[in-house]
Amino acid sequence: MTEALLLKKENRMADIVTTLIEMLGKGSVLTGEDVSSRQAGFFSRAPVEAKAIVRPRSTAEVSETMKLCHEFDQPVVAHGGRTGLVLSAATKPDDIVVSLERMNSIEEINSIDRTVVAQSGVILQTLQEEVEKHDLMYPLDLGARGSCTIGGNIATNAGGNRVIRYGMTRDMVLGLEVVLADGTVVSSMNQMIKNNAGYDLKQLFIGSEGSLGIVTRAVLRLREMPQERSTLLVAVDEFGKLPNLLKLLDSSLGGTLSAFELMWNNFYRLVTTEPALNSPPMSQDYPYYVLIEAIGAESEKMETTLQEAWDQGLIVDAVIAQSEIQRQQLWALRDDVGQAVRYLPNFTFDVSLRISHMVDYVEEVNRRLKERFPKVENFTLGHMGDGNLHFLVAPGEGDSSLRHDVEACVYEPLAEISGSVSAEHGIGLEKKPWLQISRSPEEIEVMRKMKRALDPKGILNPGKIFDLKS
Ligand code: ZN
Repeated sequence: MTEALLLKKENRMADIVTTLIEMLGKGSVLTGEDVSSRQAGFFSRAPVEAKAIVRPRSTAEVSETMKLCHEFDQPVVAHGGRTGLVLSAATKPDDIVVSLERMNSIEEINSIDRTVVAQSGVILQTLQEEVEKHDLMYPLDLGARGSCTIGGNIATNAGGNRVIRYGMTRDMVLGLEVVLADGTVVSSMNQMIKNNAGYDLKQLFIGSEGSLGIVTRAVLRLREMPQERSTLLVAVDEFGKLPNLLKLLDSSLGGTLSAFELMWNNFYRLVTTEPALNSPPMSQDYPYYVLIEAIGAESEKMETTLQEAWDQGLIVDAVIAQSEIQRQQLWALRDDVGQAVRYLPNFTFDVSLRISHMVDYVEEVNRRLKERFPKVENFTLGHMGDGNLHFLVAPGEGDSSLRHDVEACVYEPLAEISGSVSAEHGIGLEKKPWLQISRSPEEIEVMRKMKRALDPKGILNPGKIFDLKS
């Protein structure tokens, strides 16, 4: 019997927090004000509520923690950077939080195999910058890069700004180490691009929102750092021209197109009008704006493609970033979604649908919203190349109790076009009532079977995504 298990037996009558402190040391277990002084989420000022926050330093300590929690039937919620948007990391006062913040080492960067081995508490931006020193690139990129963690990105299968070229997190993970609900460590740290030896178990945990296991380490696939990068903002006067512009860029730029970020007029105005910090790089009067980036495209190639788009009448204005600072300024516009907090209440969405359905769908959502909330603003943007739209809906009245009514306007029209209520944010608690719009009863039942098989006591992130009982 291990020392920790002996200790646990002696403390059988003691409370779990005391036992955790004895097992891991005082500095590894936060309680009281050290818990409540933490903010629950990026947009939520509410404090974290939990019995304790455990901060393991190794996979072995995560495993010991889970063995104990399993024995005590103790609910556990894993925490990364807490930048999620669907209450996936929400806690209750009786929960124990396992925060991966001290597992923040980059263990190896291999420029021959083009891989990085990282612990799950590493901040995304830190990883991006470290691999850049080796002339390599980790392509995942999103607005929360400065706070979100590799483990959180994996748990939520984060998407972001370059999905059109490199895919989502799922496509960048080669191997994973995961601790299951009963403390079992499944180390599947594959370093190869190809490995068809049986089930690809890592995919089960990617995007499972901490409900099937706690990710502790990962092997991630890197790319060569591109020599050139073109970033530009264009204006388009009709929605119907956007798919043609996307097709022209994708075919002419030889597969280097990495971002096609669409902004509706009202979103562009929101992020280029004071008190927003950014000034408008072109007129605020066009119906649509697209932030385009091509990683690895020669600038002459981009210029001839742009000329072609102009000749075909697909664009009506364009600004090309001439320096890294200008490039960052264009991205700062797109990333400034926080401006919507000027309008309260507001509700954030990340729906997914076929590009060919987009015009009619947006029109229908706006029709329903206007009918119900005459003063509504629906700031709209999206990763159009991925079929992913974001809405920042401000009803212009009421409070957060309007959430369900706003959600109904956005989600109900997705049912008949087989769209998804979540393109990239996940389900968490927030979208749980709407899961059945995007997943059949049979699909949800298979999810339940997987959850019961891996976490029979239902202690990992309980109540998130779906209920265990139908
Ligand atoms: Zn997004």
